[in-house]
Amino acid sequence: MSGMTDNHSHRAAEHRSGAVVVLDDEPLVGQTIARIAAAAGFDARHAETSAAFFALLDERPADIVIIDLVLPDSDGVAVMERLAERPAPPKVIISSGVGSRVLDAARRVVSARGLPILGVLPKPFTQATLRELLLSRQVLPPEALKKVPDATSAPDRMDLAAAIERGDIQVVYQPRVACRTGTLEGFEALARWRHPEHGDIKPDFFVALAEQEGLIEALSRAVISQAIDWFAMLRSAETAARVGRDTLRRCSLSVNISALLLENNEFFDWMLARCRAQGIDAQQLVLEVTESSAMADIHGSLSVLTRLRVRGFRLSIDDFGTGFSTMMQLVRLPFSEIKLDKSFVLHSDSSEESATVVRSIVELGHNLKLNVVAEGVESPAVHQYLRELGCHAMQGYLISRPMAPEAIERWFVEREHQREVQRLEALYNSGLLDSRYEARFDRITRLTARLLEAPVSLISVIDGLRQWFKSRQGMALTQTPRSQAFCSVAIEDDGLLEVPDTLQHPLFSTYAAVRGDRPIRFYAGHVIMLAGGEKVGTLCVADYQPRTLSTRERQWLEALAGLVEDELQRAAVATERAPDDPRHPSGFRARATQLFDFCRRLEMPCGLLVARIRDIGGINHVHGRAKGDRLLDALQHMVTETGLSGDLAGRMRGREMALLIVNADEAAMRRSRALLSAAIDRYNRQYPDEPRLSCVLGDAIMVPGRADILEDLVALAHQQATPHDATT
Ligand code: C2E
Ligand code: CA
Ligand code: CA
Repeated sequence: MSGMTDNHSHRAAEHRSGAVVVLDDEPLVGQTIARIAAAAGFDARHAETSAAFFALLDERPADIVIIDLVLPDSDGVAVMERLAERPAPPKVIISSGVGSRVLDAARRVVSARGLPILGVLPKPFTQATLRELLLSRQVLPPEALKKVPDATSAPDRMDLAAAIERGDIQVVYQPRVACRTGTLEGFEALARWRHPEHGDIKPDFFVALAEQEGLIEALSRAVISQAIDWFAMLRSAETAARVGRDTLRRCSLSVNISALLLENNEFFDWMLARCRAQGIDAQQLVLEVTESSAMADIHGSLSVLTRLRVRGFRLSIDDFGTGFSTMMQLVRLPFSEIKLDKSFVLHSDSSEESATVVRSIVELGHNLKLNVVAEGVESPAVHQYLRELGCHAMQGYLISRPMAPEAIERWFVEREHQREVQRLEALYNSGLLDSRYEARFDRITRLTARLLEAPVSLISVIDGLRQWFKSRQGMALTQTPRSQAFCSVAIEDDGLLEVPDTLQHPLFSTYAAVRGDRPIRFYAGHVIMLAGGEKVGTLCVADYQPRTLSTRERQWLEALAGLVEDELQRAAVATERAPDDPRHPSGFRARATQLFDFCRRLEMPCGLLVARIRDIGGINHVHGRAKGDRLLDALQHMVTETGLSGDLAGRMRGREMALLIVNADEAAMRRSRALLSAAIDRYNRQYPDEPRLSCVLGDAIMVPGRADILEDLVALAHQQATPHDATT
């Protein structure tokens, strides 16, 4: 694999300028660079793989190396980190076609590792640029040194060791919240050092100092043990009782892990033991590892990170965007989330370039099914942008600065109060509360009850002091006090709340519905939001015996809640015409498309039955329009009756009725068709003096994976249409 041109090597002594080694996987590029260097008076050799490159260096040291960032077998950063470990490392020129931002980030990282950097060489380059770089000899100022505030008076190893010993390193916590709803998700622990003489010292500085001076493990243990103790307290039942909410108990704790600790198994065993001792599940902990450290040695990282995952910790890629990951590398690493670096987030409302980086990283996260957390959100405009992109969570001064532990409870309570005020305002503006009952919502609760085989299914809306039901199946009450509402607790979170046995639940076991003659023993509710992310209530099911939902049933409930949200949005649009009036084909089409997509997404077969009156024009002409309309209404009624609970019936075109049957099989379709023919015959017998109803019926079933749009199903049903009396 490795090709070398060392035709200059035997003449090394003649080269006054020194020795250059080029590492580039493109033979042509490597050769070209080597030639230009040779022309400038250097002894130039080149290699195509990192192994060959190090072999060349071992053979004869170099003064300057030129390294391509993107290599097939490892990456340039890993190579440079290996270089940094050598006793007298050569000066480095980083070359690549990856774009100036990445090159610049690479320069910073490598420089921080202590390698002298001559400069970066963006490809394509001119001969002159390369010559200039080679001959300049001007090493860029090392990144790490720039951080030392004042070289003479800066705190040193002794100060830091003493501070750790004395417990002067304190931990502050910065909350992170969901972008869409604002729901609190967790906290990041950040170290603080209040120095009696030097004042507040920046963690960037003392963490780097600890890393350099072999104190990083001691520092991390000090920080993490404080954080775990605090976190255990935050999650205690006493705290929950004091703040009156359960949310804090579901939070996560993120801690920053230095790259130097990654291979330290004992450290993570210690962490795990600390968690266990405090009754904390490892899954509540998120370890933040910087992108550059995770990617530096992709093969090593894979095994180290996998071991951490096996212990149960969640992993986050910190400072994402400043490193050099390529998608393919990321996919292989067991991360649970990406933490988008604040350098992009901060200015994404004003800088086109930052906005683009933010957008592509959020998209990358979606594609890889990784949550993206944006850090450094300071303005409402940036928040809005992140919401539009569908970024999962955020952290930043807009929500809160990092806080001392004593401040957190109060911050939480005040914020929750504000959010509730906003929620109620949005709810009142929506006009949903105490609105009339509507068939379109009842259809969804009926479908929910049917699919989940639950005796009770409700759309609940949570007002300030009560819960009101917009739609209800199997429940006589129209409202309850909020303090007795499962759904009021469900909306504290953003997804699904499932209570397999209410009698075993610390809070719900005291509720009236659980204490009565016919106790509710099972509850599952999924949050329903308005377009702005305000949680107004839930779609829920209940049962009189304990049970659990299957994974599929959970997906169904979530998707059904989505249907409710779609209807809520539709109500905001529909004005003059009742949106649930099935006589309007446009309304039916839109809903049918939605329900069809619902089935397709959930891989649930979906059947369509169509019925068209033959010669309605003739009937209108002979008997008058009123008779024609009566006939259409009668047919519509029959089609609706044919469906199962929760199926969708309506008018597809002027004289064509349709029934969309959820979760149907061939037998169900045959049965529906026969039922409808029988109903039509019965009608004709019952009203011999009315114009005779003669229909064409067609049906089709959409098996998951076949045909992707409703129109295909309609066409199939039309193909199979026959006169209704021909089938019997
Ligand atoms: P990081 O992990 O990227 O942490 C985020 C930094 O962004 C924090 O700086 C935080 O205070 C700051 N920040 C959060 N929101 C905003 C915002 O809206 N605007 C702006 N301008 N900044 C915001 P901090 O606390 O100074 O920490 C700096 C870095 O020091 C951290 O960066 C982390 O890499 C490191 N660090 C802090 N504590 C620890 C620790 O206990 N262990 C390790 N290994 N590193 C730590
Ligand atoms: Ca972090
Ligand atoms: Ca960062």
